[in-house]
Amino acid sequence: MLDLDFYRNLPEKSCRECGDTIEEQHESYLYECERCIGKHEE
Ligand SMILES: [Zn+2]
Repeated sequence: MLDLDFYRNLPEKSCRECGDTIEEQHESYLYECERCIGKHEE
């Protein structure tokens, strides 16, 4: 329960690869922005 404040104060999700903000339209399984995900798929 002590973690509630932590999660509430989190800024927008950001890509773990480049730090770019991840659009909230994505599902929660994404931790990388479209650009970095695209890199993996190439
Ligand atoms: Zn990225």
